[in-house]
Amino acid sequence: MGAPVIFSGIQPTGRKHLGNYIGAIRQYVEAQERGEPAIFCIVDLHAISVAYDPAELRERFYDTTAILLAAGLDPARCILFRQSDVREHTELTWLLSAVTAHGDLNRMHQFKDKSSRQRELISAALFFYPVLMAADVLAYRATEVPVGDDQRQHVELMREIARRFNERFGEALVVPEFRIPEVGARIMDLQDPERKMSTTGATEAGTVYVLDEPDAIRKKLGSAVTDSGREVRRGEDKAGITNLIDVLAVARGADPAEIEREFDGAGYGDFKEAVAEGVVELLAPVRERYAELRPDEAALEAALAEGAGKARAIAAKTLEEVCDRMGIGGPR
Ligand code: ATP
Ligand code: MG
Repeated sequence: MGAPVIFSGIQPTGRKHLGNYIGAIRQYVEAQERGEPAIFCIVDLHAISVAYDPAELRERFYDTTAILLAAGLDPARCILFRQSDVREHTELTWLLSAVTAHGDLNRMHQFKDKSSRQRELISAALFFYPVLMAADVLAYRATEVPVGDDQRQHVELMREIARRFNERFGEALVVPEFRIPEVGARIMDLQDPERKMSTTGATEAGTVYVLDEPDAIRKKLGSAVTDSGREVRRGEDKAGITNLIDVLAVARGADPAEIEREFDGAGYGDFKEAVAEGVVELLAPVRERYAELRPDEAALEAALAEGAGKARAIAAKTLEEVCDRMGIGGPR
């Protein structure tokens, strides 16, 4: 087995949160050591699938770019770029739609969840989101896709799309594997621990943002919803505490079982305080570095432009082969 080709995307909507950091960004930083290449895409085209404001999208885009760099993505060791800078993504989306089953798109949980929350328009873009996501990954013939648990179904679908393409037109695409962290793949909303922490559609008080000040983090963790029991242990009936155990385990680089042992007999109050301090320490370096990087938008653009050039070179080759096999365009 050669080195993996790693690809993942992140939306520039809203403010990135602890779930994104633990489920995705943390994995990206580690992936730079293994991926040849490791490719990370800030997916502005996905962001327009729900209600949004154009000027705000630009701002949030830079915020997200700066957060990724602050967290440790290094343009010298990975390819970091803006989705819309590489037109191959949208073209490949259409081509892949020819081998995507309408019935499969109809089954997607994310579409069901997000469409039920739209007030004005349920866009066709929201329905088509998984095809664009398949194009994102398949354009690079990625072998590995680090994502949070909520993206499992979308990765399954892109695997199906790649398989169907290869069967119908010949082996041109790679069927990718997903990579979901063992602990922290699904960080829950602190106020509603049955629901994932989310950029769109979570509660404000239940969402810890990567850029939150320490006091805000302490306040949110202090008021995290738990249960009427008093034991710090994981359990089906203890969604809130289970979530906090996972968060502290990741923050400390420990095993959840070690956290349970350490807080055996402790009250929820002490435990929550420890979780808050763990999260403050986890996020503080990112917030501090972000403050240095975010003001220089020209530098952010330069990093993205470099990434786009490298990404385009790879995606263009895939697209040429895909078109060729599908009989699209003149003979080459
Ligand atoms: P939205 O709710 O609008 O879809 P989001 O919070 O899911 O936004 P994305 O940019 O769509 O953010 O997701 C980026 C990455 O973060 C994905 O790999 C996703 O699986 C992961 N992720 C999102 N929420 C969580 C969570 N609560 N726990 C762990 N990983 C998460
Ligand atoms: Mg999402």
